[in-house]
Amino acid sequence: MIFKCKNCGGNILYNPEKGTMCCPHCESLESEDKLVSTEYMVSCANCGAPMDGAIKQFTSATKCLNCGTYVILDERVEGDLRPEFVLPFRISRNKAIDLLRDEFGKRIFTPSAFLNKASVDKIEGSYIPFFMYDYDTYSRYQGVGTKVRTWTSGGYEYTETSYYDIYREMKADFDMVPVDASDAMEDGLMDLLEPFNYAGLEQFNEKYMSGFMGEMYNQPEEALAPRAIDKIAKAVDGLLNGSISGYSTVTKVNKNTDLKKKNVHYALLPVWEYVFSFRGVDYKFHVNGETGKVVGRTPVDKQKVVAFSGTVFALVSIIGMAIRFAMAYL
Ligand SMILES: [Zn+2]
Ligand SMILES: [Zn+2]
Repeated sequence: MIFKCKNCGGNILYNPEKGTMCCPHCESLESEDKLVSTEYMVSCANCGAPMDGAIKQFTSATKCLNCGTYVILDERVEGDLRPEFVLPFRISRNKAIDLLRDEFGKRIFTPSAFLNKASVDKIEGSYIPFFMYDYDTYSRYQGVGTKVRTWTSGGYEYTETSYYDIYREMKADFDMVPVDASDAMEDGLMDLLEPFNYAGLEQFNEKYMSGFMGEMYNQPEEALAPRAIDKIAKAVDGLLNGSISGYSTVTKVNKNTDLKKKNVHYALLPVWEYVFSFRGVDYKFHVNGETGKVVGRTPVDKQKVVAFSGTVFALVSIIGMAIRFAMAYL
């Protein structure tokens, strides 16, 4: 589908700053007409140009390479492919450019072509497919702790070691543990772009995609669940270890965790991407489309992908997953 302005007929887009549909040509608000067609995979409904160059295997929203109209591929946001949630862009294109300029133009040497007029047009916002997993966990831990006491008396040094059995039972429920479902997006990169503030999640609606690129999930949720379980296992270890303190040494004897999958949500999260080509090498820069956090690889520091501190919104919650847990000290 494409969204057309009732007033001027232009391509009406979602405006991150206004948080609403806005015509970039005549500034009409919420005056969109939905134009649905089944032929988007073949040709642009606006200009008739072939669309094959703009549509890849997992593309769900794209831009006509000929006329620049933003197109949402209906059959890739329907049925099983329909997202439950979307986190709308809050960072506009101009804001993303400013954030990248601030970070890379001032602090680090960058070639003058970086973010000049010509290359800035290549920045695109993209909705990245994510699965968010809800798991309940129940863990049992058994270990041995020691406490060591030393003292001196009558010219002798004494050492007393006391041994303690440590038992923990912990019930921890994890909500919305995110795993990206895009093969093209490096996992490490998404981890750097997190956290996203899930309080801003909306029920999915195609209008949020107008003006952006989009991808549908590349793999089913079952195939990606192990990555959520990995994250949860690390969090469980952290919670258990955090509950054991005051010992000189702790030795684990036994630990097991039962996991129960409660729910899986399919959601789209917003990311700005800018590819800068310099001396034959492509450097990718990303901006979290919700928080403004900047991640990039600079031309002077090829090896490292780094997260920069460009967060413009104070996050209420820094954690990427909400955890509720109860612990029994036995
Ligand atoms: Zn208009
Ligand atoms: Zn077109």
